[in-house]
Amino acid sequence: MTTLLITDPVFQGHAMPAGHPERPERMRAIERALAGSEFDSLRREAAIAAPLETALLAHPDEYVRIIAASAPTEGFRFLDGDTSMSPGTLHAVLAAMGSACHAVDEVAKGSVANAFIASRPPGHHAEKATPMGFCFFNTIAIAARHAQKAHGLKRIAILDWDVHHGNGTQDILWDEKDILFISSHEMPLYPGSGAENETGRYGMIHNVPLVSGTDGAMFRSIYEAKVFPRLEAHKPEMILISAGFDAHRRDPLANLKLEAEDFGWATRRVMEIADRVCGGKIVSLLEGGYDLEGLSSSVAAHVGELMKA
Ligand SMILES: [Zn+2]
Repeated sequence: MTTLLITDPVFQGHAMPAGHPERPERMRAIERALAGSEFDSLRREAAIAAPLETALLAHPDEYVRIIAASAPTEGFRFLDGDTSMSPGTLHAVLAAMGSACHAVDEVAKGSVANAFIASRPPGHHAEKATPMGFCFFNTIAIAARHAQKAHGLKRIAILDWDVHHGNGTQDILWDEKDILFISSHEMPLYPGSGAENETGRYGMIHNVPLVSGTDGAMFRSIYEAKVFPRLEAHKPEMILISAGFDAHRRDPLANLKLEAEDFGWATRRVMEIADRVCGGKIVSLLEGGYDLEGLSSSVAAHVGELMKA
């Protein structure tokens, strides 16, 4: 079966101030990395914009309206020190939400085996009512709730291997009984949350802090001990991945030492679990990853594994 890949120029239309690491070039690097003939069998689709109301799956109405009204007609509008909107930001944000929900639809229906959405801005730092860390709406939490609402799925798992804690996803899903959120992240590091004792109202938050300098071998043994058993025990009906690639050794924003092959390995192991518990249903969404070479090689390893389904 096929892997769905969603890319779109709309994601390059979200401009950031000069020198910002979360830049449109990330999209072009990924498109170049996935242009080779070994990726010919991907089902490639353009983005589908979601209506603004889709954001209500994770955010209160007032916050959604504030974000929608904050996009400037020119230049930048800063929402916090490192999170700003440009004239193209709202289009990109709606396209990221719509594409994630569409990918959930296609995977739930079984028309593709799995999916990867190469979108920006990322979303996992966006809390219920706070934009931060380059994020506005929490796309992965929205996708999880969409899977429940539109497809009647109950048990969902989100695995967040971005090097930063998925504080926004944790905030939004804190009271969930059926959505398991697992985040591994370097600690201490931005945004500062993500300790093991932050477990959510019903114990469905599972934080796995990693020390600075963690390499591939350490990462793999920690994942085998702490991440994969919990993921499989949840028996999710769909697995969503907050796929940041900033734990790569080249990344300028963090200090872990993963290689592209480590992301390929993690992908393979998640697929093995997905095959056992949910017919292989995986939807993976780009989060961070700020070194273009580290990002593109890691995405190629990740998507290359997804295509083996
Ligand atoms: Zn990150």
